[in-house]
Amino acid sequence: SIPLSFFAGIGGASKAGVLVKGSNYLEALSQTKIVVFDKTGTLTRGVFEVNDIHHNKMEAEKLVEYAALAESASSHPISKSLQRAYGKAIDRSRVTDIREISGNGVMAKVDGIEVAAGNDKLMKRLGISYIDCHSVGTIIHVAVDGAYAGHIVISDVVKEHSKEAVQALRSAGIRKTVMLTGDARKVGEQVAKELQLDEVYAELLPADKVEKVEELLRSKTGKEKLAFVGDGINDAPVLSRSDIGIAMGAMGSDAAIEAADVVLMDDDPLQIAKSVKISRKCLRIVY
Ligand code: ADP
Ligand code: MG
Repeated sequence: SIPLSFFAGIGGASKAGVLVKGSNYLEALSQTKIVVFDKTGTLTRGVFEVNDIHHNKMEAEKLVEYAALAESASSHPISKSLQRAYGKAIDRSRVTDIREISGNGVMAKVDGIEVAAGNDKLMKRLGISYIDCHSVGTIIHVAVDGAYAGHIVISDVVKEHSKEAVQALRSAGIRKTVMLTGDARKVGEQVAKELQLDEVYAELLPADKVEKVEELLRSKTGKEKLAFVGDGINDAPVLSRSDIGIAMGAMGSDAAIEAADVVLMDDDPLQIAKSVKISRKCLRIVY
């Protein structure tokens, strides 16, 4: 049977904006020693600004229009940002055959013309040669009707409390902090350095993230637990594979909230250390 104070613990946690889906997760949270983060939307705001546009075949505006329309069905932060950059209402009747390739980008027909928007992996997959861009940022290549049309360089900023959140975890005895990202290596390394994370792995597909988490799970000793924190877009497999899957609830996808064991009602990364502390306090009351 579950001690009554576990329920009190779950109730107390929920008052602090931390929803724990069961007493076993409350106990696991208290034993967290490794915290693995997703980047976009978790440690960074997930709100990208356009820094640069490279175009040769068509006007920059047209390039952004094709990208925004092709992205119109995606809930990825990149998609939302490109739609915002377009700045006009999206006429969804112009968009058909939408396909989202997680960790790569999107494909769709816009006005009956095939459009692809995504990273270099997507271009390689389609056999479209692209211009190597040396700007630091997230590069969205756009192909229209099977030909390269240019790229949009976008960038995101770290959340206000991310650095403090990493420090708070360290003070709470977390021995390793890791960031996994599907984004470019240069971008990942810059964020990891800024936040003083212990490790960073970039250019990962969702399946690569699962593999990395499995490797980290094998590195644990004793009762140590590993928590993965994500906003969830593409991250449901990693959330379920971790000892504790933590989803950022306010911006997170429904799939993430479903796959997670703990949901943070607020997207503030300081909530992670707070939930570990709440769980420990509750466990001390139980035992
Ligand atoms: P992260 O690990 O930072 O959360 P994702 O795994 O969601 O990133 O995506 C990894 C990369 O895949 C992005 O940096 C981007 O290059 C590409 N990508 C994913 N979704 C999209 C999209 N909707 N449009 C364009 N590119 C995308
Ligand atoms: Mg993500």
